[in-house]
Amino acid sequence: MTTTTDVLISGAGPTGLFLALWLTRLGVRVRVADLKSGPVQETRAIAVQARTLEYYDQLGLGADAMRRGRHFDRLNLFVRGDLRGAVRLRGVGDDLTPHPYLYILTQDQNEELLVEHLTALGVSIDWNTEVTAFTQDDAGVTATFSRNDQHEIVRASYAAGCDGARSAVRHALGVPLSGGTYAQRFYVADITLRGKVREGDVNLSLDDDHFLAFFPMPEPHRHRVVGQLGPGVREHATFEDVRPELEANGLAQVSTVHWFSTYRVHHRVADHFRVHRAFILGDAAHVHTPVGGQGMNTGLGDAANLAWKLAQAVHGGGDEVLDTYEPERRPFAVALVNTTDRVFTGIVRDGAAARFLRLTAVPTLLPLLTRAEAVRRLLFLTVSQTRLHYPDSSLSQGAAGGVHGGERLPWVALPQGGSNFDALRSLTWQAHTYGPPAPDLLAWCARREVPLHVFPETRASRHAGLTPAAVYLVRPDGYVGLACATFDAAALDAYTDRWVRPATPRPHLPPRPSDLEVTV
Ligand SMILES: Cc1cc2nc3c(=O)[nH]c(=O)nc-3n(C[C@H](O)[C@H](O)[C@H](O)COP(=O)(O)OP(=O)(O)OC[C@H]3O[C@@H](n4cnc5c(N)ncnc54)[C@H](O)[C@@H]3O)c2cc1C
Repeated sequence: MTTTTDVLISGAGPTGLFLALWLTRLGVRVRVADLKSGPVQETRAIAVQARTLEYYDQLGLGADAMRRGRHFDRLNLFVRGDLRGAVRLRGVGDDLTPHPYLYILTQDQNEELLVEHLTALGVSIDWNTEVTAFTQDDAGVTATFSRNDQHEIVRASYAAGCDGARSAVRHALGVPLSGGTYAQRFYVADITLRGKVREGDVNLSLDDDHFLAFFPMPEPHRHRVVGQLGPGVREHATFEDVRPELEANGLAQVSTVHWFSTYRVHHRVADHFRVHRAFILGDAAHVHTPVGGQGMNTGLGDAANLAWKLAQAVHGGGDEVLDTYEPERRPFAVALVNTTDRVFTGIVRDGAAARFLRLTAVPTLLPLLTRAEAVRRLLFLTVSQTRLHYPDSSLSQGAAGGVHGGERLPWVALPQGGSNFDALRSLTWQAHTYGPPAPDLLAWCARREVPLHVFPETRASRHAGLTPAAVYLVRPDGYVGLACATFDAAALDAYTDRWVRPATPRPHLPPRPSDLEVTV
């Protein structure tokens, strides 16, 4: 049997599900296959960062996500069982994002949320289905979906390998996942506990020969703990092998173990994220340590970056835009793997100097450093992925005020309530002004069928770097494509001719000014 679709997706982890949802919202047909029988049951990744929540808002999942998870506000640092300091996490990004916090929404909760929203749009996942073969030619891609010895040939315009670190699509493309694997082994457990570990906070515990990180889970007294297995611990360790180090110094008294798993950590990035009509995203393209809770979020970011580009290509808008996926996402993945590698190596390194750093220098300096607003802000911007930008992309052009092409559109709360991010829910290219629009801009937007959003100039918009005379052409994923310091028809036309397309194909009707979406 052969069936056809627009985009076939191998893997229904968070990355594949999110890509499927975004594409479906843009009118692109998808087929999604996964080996599993349904969403993961284990928690795995636990935090969603502010940038992910912003994307969820764009797709209309934000409120639903906020009903399911919980915030955490503080990071406590224990050394040999004594509380040595605390870092307050709230309040530092209030002017940067509608979600100025770290948010616990575990991987199983994310997958359930995404599956529910896909189901509501009439998309069902091919569970218990393995992608067993993959080829491509000039006109499209072909995959075999295998289930219970039944084989279906699926033909599509494009393929997305969202099938994790052992990606079948990446293997079929012959793309290496270059990097290495740490020698150390680690464990992760979901546990219910009482003790010194503080409820609702992140708790780090440093000791002579081990470190522990406790993350609050949505349920009361439930925590995710991550630690390193000592050299003497047997290969198939159980929770009882690590219980003594958790319960030392009264740190925790564990009453229930919900899940326990051991694993090795890799630091690897695929040499390419695209080969012709096939793309790889998420863990299929990059794997790294869980430091900073970036793994799942980076996969979701890959999906947000690629979805609108694929939609433009599928809807006949040309495929030049697809060339920007790898140059935008791969450098970020490389930087992320290198940063998490440095932090991680510092935490797990052996020897007297490393122990001094871990047990004396860090506990003394960290609380002092993080009292400085600038340090806390940089930390938040980095971990939340709101600082991520694409300065070297061919999609990124111009500068106006403090905003450059390629930067995430700065978030601005509006005096009447809501924010400029509300406009992004249309998932379309759009023009923004922050002050009265230039007289010719209205006519230009009508002629080029670009929705225009006119926001008032306020202290908040100026503080965010948005200047009144400027025109910002904003991409469907919320990044500024072109920033023009003043209305410049030639620059806007040149950029629009090359990149800007409607989100879904429309019958070509002459635009009327009253069709314009103007938010004042
Ligand atoms: C124990 C553990 C703890 C973790 N903790 C954290 C954390 O604290 N923070 C964090 O950010 N990240 C964490 N991660 C990483 C996080 O889980 C991943 O980054 C995230 O799941 C990546 O999502 P993905 O959709 O790209 O890949 P995956 O979640 O791996 O999904 C890939 C999917 O593809 C399917 N698949 C594979 N091959 C095929 C095939 N041939 N055909 C069809 N389907 C296929 C698989 O069944 C799977 O469902 C953890 C991972 C593990 C295992």
